[in-house]
Amino acid sequence: PQLANQIAAGEVVERPVSVIKELVENSLDAGSTQIDIDVEQGGSKLIRIRDNGSGIAKAELALALARHATSKINTLDDLDSIMSLGFRGEALASISSVARLTLTSRTADQSEAWQVYAEGRDMKPTIKPAAHPVGSTVEVLDLFYNTPARRRFLKTDKTEFMHIEEFVRRIALARPDVTFNLQHNGKLIKQYRQSPLEKRVESVCGRSFVQKAIKLDWQHNDLQIQGWVSSSEVSELQYFYVNGRVIKDKLINHALRQAYSSRTNEQQSYVAFLQIDPKQVDVNVHPAKHEVRFHEARLVHDFVYQAIVMALESSQQ
Ligand code: ADP
Ligand code: MG
Repeated sequence: PQLANQIAAGEVVERPVSVIKELVENSLDAGSTQIDIDVEQGGSKLIRIRDNGSGIAKAELALALARHATSKINTLDDLDSIMSLGFRGEALASISSVARLTLTSRTADQSEAWQVYAEGRDMKPTIKPAAHPVGSTVEVLDLFYNTPARRRFLKTDKTEFMHIEEFVRRIALARPDVTFNLQHNGKLIKQYRQSPLEKRVESVCGRSFVQKAIKLDWQHNDLQIQGWVSSSEVSELQYFYVNGRVIKDKLINHALRQAYSSRTNEQQSYVAFLQIDPKQVDVNVHPAKHEVRFHEARLVHDFVYQAIVMALESSQQ
């Protein structure tokens, strides 16, 4: 199954930031309120995610590293279907097939922590006692050490770290209720403390962005939007969340352009959070591409447009 695992890993693990994304999502699933992300050399040397979540019980520790479903991949003919399927529920197994992974964890009802280590796939994970508060730490060393072709595809440490910073900004905006600390080569780079949404937007996007922005706050039937929009030179600052998930969609851009059209043709920056009945949207169009499909796209578009028009009007009073 080594081959199957490495193929699967290619889907989940493209570069350091993909590892971090999977691990941070696990930490959030575990109810963590603080997540520390330490990386060395852009993540290619070390990625360490430490959380204060529920932890994993000793009996489940080794299982967490095992592939959930036994793989049915035997021939290369299956490769296409594998790639399009995507791999859910197999992140730790996939990561441990392309790096040296250590998982340390403690649940609230255990008096000590336990640690498992996995290298390659045909291992029996060794388990031993460890010191750790309630929560988990996953350490990923030497990413792609055994898949040199993939390792060569990594960009400079600086570039890989830029991707990591961008991911942390996005997740920090989605989860102001969680504290995130980001370190690179032993230096604290970003610290986002648990705070109300507006404060979090300030610390991620800058105070001047929030001060200059007009505020979206609109609700209609099942739709609700909250956000900040600003005419700005910084066009990179464009974050649109649907039910807490950052997505790329032409919809908001289009609605913005329409709403602003008579006033200005400047670029807009925005951070906006749309809440919609989950039944009205397919989020799994492609798990890695941040796309969604609204069942009633027109309706959503008009709602967003309306929200912007209302905000523009009240900002001019
Ligand atoms: P998935 O998250 O899709 O179930 P993963 O391979 O990412 O698959 O994780 C396997 C399992 O290990 C999770 O289902 C969860 O039970 C457990 N787990 C992983 N990371 C953590 C964590 N940080 N805290 C608590 N449990 C975790
Ligand atoms: Mg997971």
